[in-house]
Amino acid sequence: MSLVDQFQRRITYLRLSVTDRCDLRCTYCMPERQTFLPRSEVLSLEELHRLALAFIDRGVTRIRLTGGEPLVRRDMIELVQALGRKLGDGLEELTLTTNGMQLAAHADALAAAGVKRINVSLDTLDRATFQRLARRDGLAQVLEGIAAARAAGLKVKLNTVALKGVNEGEIPALVAWAHEQGMDLTLIEVMPLGAVEADRFDQYLPLPQVRAALERHFTLTPSAHRTGGPARYVDVAETGGRLGFITPLTGNFCDGCNRVRVTTTGQLHPCLGGSEMVDLRAALRSTDADTALETALNRAMAIKPERHHFAIGGKGEAPALARHMSVTGG
Ligand code: SAM
Ligand code: SF4
Repeated sequence: MSLVDQFQRRITYLRLSVTDRCDLRCTYCMPERQTFLPRSEVLSLEELHRLALAFIDRGVTRIRLTGGEPLVRRDMIELVQALGRKLGDGLEELTLTTNGMQLAAHADALAAAGVKRINVSLDTLDRATFQRLARRDGLAQVLEGIAAARAAGLKVKLNTVALKGVNEGEIPALVAWAHEQGMDLTLIEVMPLGAVEADRFDQYLPLPQVRAALERHFTLTPSAHRTGGPARYVDVAETGGRLGFITPLTGNFCDGCNRVRVTTTGQLHPCLGGSEMVDLRAALRSTDADTALETALNRAMAIKPERHHFAIGGKGEAPALARHMSVTGG
């Protein structure tokens, strides 16, 4: 019953998107005028729950809820509570990735439902840069959300997309701030997923370049620390903290892939950077849903590609995939 693909990679990690909607409009993620899905297309709470249980039955031990912004979905906490009941009963970790905007209101409920760690995306500590980047004046609200999460006992890890000429000069200060607060931070390379107004070439900042710049401020020592994902870590001597690098473009990590992604409409994407897709919603809504789901999941394992092939080569290139990260779930 376990999920193993044709390259013998065992799938133990599900990223489940609960909405494609968001209360920010990060310039690297989606255009200002994004068309969102009609609600009728989106999986219901019961369907999301049922799907998650099917994955847990097949050996998935970690689930990350994502989006869009997961905390803008109205019944999100009910889903977290329902899945929280599977912790210790097949599920080892339930977590989410959030922009932090609604965190202050929900931190206590998340912690009470069994969530222990969350990822918060934070690309800048400068109010004007945040406003330019996320097209909303939300920095203070996000910082309040982070503080509330930590006060509720949640371990917060920060994710930062490295953006040429936007937060490039601020990265050492962001790392120092995160570590001072006792939070790990992971840097991510921007990926050419979905059309946005800007040219990806102008946004793209290769992480080896960022690392070299950081080494002018800090002593970085490779760390054996792993979280089961693609990040590779270094210890920062001056801060005593840990810094991660996720390098989909400059350092392919697909051979260790342990995950699949399901969109809020129930499309399973076996690869974030590939066009392969299996429709789990159709399976869920069919008359013999159990058999249809089994067939669909087997098919997903058969078509999971060995690796992604996206790259950012030069100016004016079309996106590698039309699908935005907010649809597949980051
Ligand atoms: N709204 C939540 C958030 O921002 O954390 C969850 C969804 S968001 C799509 C998940 C992660 O994907 C965020 O850390 C975001 O910065 C990142 N992301 C979005 N578009 C990206 C892109 N084109 N390349 C790299 N990372 C991207
Ligand atoms: Fe929203 Fe997250 Fe995309 Fe920003 S990165 S627009 S917060 S989904």
